[in-house]
Amino acid sequence: MPGTEIPYKIYLSEEELPTSWYNVRADMKNKPAPLLHPETHKPMTFDDLRPVFCDELVKQELNDTDAYFPIPKEIREFYKMYRPSPLVRAYCLEKKLGTPAHIYYKFEGNNTSGSHKLNSAIAQAYYAKQQGLKGVTTETGAGQWGTALSMACSYFDLDCQVYMVKCSYEQKPFRREVMRTYGAKVTPSPSDTTEVGRKINAEFPGTSGSLGCAISEAVEAATKQEGYRYVLGSVLSQVLVHQTVIGLETMAALDKYGIDPDIIIGCAGGGSNLGGLISPFVGRKLRGEKDCRFIAVEPASCPSLTRGKFVYDFCDTGHVCPLAKMYTLGSEFIPSASHAGGLRYHGMSSILSQLYADGLMEARTVEQTAVFKAAQDFARIEGILPAPESSHAIKVAIDEALKCKETGEAKNIVFGLTGTGYFDMYAYKAFNDGTMTDYIPTDEDLKRGFDALPKV
Ligand SMILES: *Cc1c(COP(=O)(O)O)cnc(C)c1O
Repeated sequence: MPGTEIPYKIYLSEEELPTSWYNVRADMKNKPAPLLHPETHKPMTFDDLRPVFCDELVKQELNDTDAYFPIPKEIREFYKMYRPSPLVRAYCLEKKLGTPAHIYYKFEGNNTSGSHKLNSAIAQAYYAKQQGLKGVTTETGAGQWGTALSMACSYFDLDCQVYMVKCSYEQKPFRREVMRTYGAKVTPSPSDTTEVGRKINAEFPGTSGSLGCAISEAVEAATKQEGYRYVLGSVLSQVLVHQTVIGLETMAALDKYGIDPDIIIGCAGGGSNLGGLISPFVGRKLRGEKDCRFIAVEPASCPSLTRGKFVYDFCDTGHVCPLAKMYTLGSEFIPSASHAGGLRYHGMSSILSQLYADGLMEARTVEQTAVFKAAQDFARIEGILPAPESSHAIKVAIDEALKCKETGEAKNIVFGLTGTGYFDMYAYKAFNDGTMTDYIPTDEDLKRGFDALPKV
C-alpha cells in the first residue's frame, strides 16, 4: 500500500504473526564471542550448560549459524492473546513537536505483565514444560520479568520460584502480589535459603540486594532441586532471539506501507528488547540490502556501552554463571538507585556488544530527570503512561525529531515502547515532587567495578 495514508495504528492480522524468530548471529561476520566456563575458561559446551538451562534453550544459545528458529504452535497460540502488537504513528507527538520527522513506536505494554518480557517468558516456560521439568527459578529486579514469567508458568502449569531483589520486594509490594496471584513463590534476595545468599548476607549485613546477587541465588536453587532449571529475562542470546518477534512484526508493518526506517531507537538494559527490535533491520544492513541507524539508549547512571569495557566478565555477583564477552561495568558495580530498575544491569548482550564494537550500532546516555520529562510529555500527548525504562527511548526519539526540525528532514524514526509504568508511581511521584536526582558515576566509581574484572 505505498502511497496511501498511514493510519494511527498499523495492525497486523493473526495470520501475519511471525512463524519463526530471527537469529541475527547467522548474518554477523564477527560472531559474538562464546560463553566461557567460570573455572576452566574454556568455551561452554552443550553438556556444561544442560544442568542450568533447558536443553532446547541451550541449543538456541549456542546456535550462531541458523538464521531462523520456528516458533512452536503452542507459543504462537499464547502470542495471539496479546500479539501482533500495534505499531503506532505518533501523529500527535509530531504535531506537538512541530517536526517534519515521522515517528513510529512499537508498543509492547499491552499485556498484564506490562512489558515485552512476556515474549521470552512464554518461550522459556514452554521448553521447560516440553522437557518434563517441574519448574523454573529466576531473579527479578524491578519485577517485570518475574511477573512475565509467573504468567507464563501458570499457563503451562509449571512451578515458578522468583528471587526478588530485596529493595524491590519491599518497595514494590504490588508487583510481588501480581506474581503470587499467578502462583509464583517470591523470596527476597539475598535470602537464607541458598548458600550464596547466606554468604552475601554475612559479608554485607543489611544489604538491600542486587540483580547479580539474585541471579546467583536463582542458579543455585535451580541446580540443587531435581527437575528445575534456571531462566533469565535478558542478556542471553536466546532471549534476544525470542524478542525478534517485535522486530519482525515492526518490519512487516512498515513494509506494508513502504516505509524505510532511518533511525531505530531502543532502551538497553540487558539488550534483549533492543536486540529483538533491531535484529531483522540489522540483518538487512549486514546483507547490504538497506541501511539504517540504530541507537541504544542507556541511563547515565549505568553506562555499560558508553563507558564500559568490552571484555569477558561474570554475569552475576556470585560468579556461578558462565563468563560472557560484553561491554561491562564489572559484576561488582552497583549503580545508584535509579528508577529504571530494568536498566541497572552491569553488562550487555554479547550480540549487541559485538554490533557496537563493529560500529554497526550507536549508543547514548540520558539522565533520569530528562527521561521523566520526556515520559510526562509523552503521556500527556500520546496518552500512554510509559515505563521509566521505555522513556529512555522516548527521550532520544524526541531529541532526534527535534534535530529534524532544525534540518527540515522528514526522517522515519522508530522506537520501542517496551512497557507501561503503572507500578512505577513512586518514581513519577519523585519527579512530580521535584525531588528526583541524577547521579552519574565518577571515573573513580567505575574503577572499582573494573578492578574486579576477571583476568581472562
Ligand atoms: C526489562 C525492561 C527493559 C529492559 O529490557 P532489556 O531487554 O533487558 O534491555 C526495558 N523496558 C521495560 C519496560 C522492561 O521491563
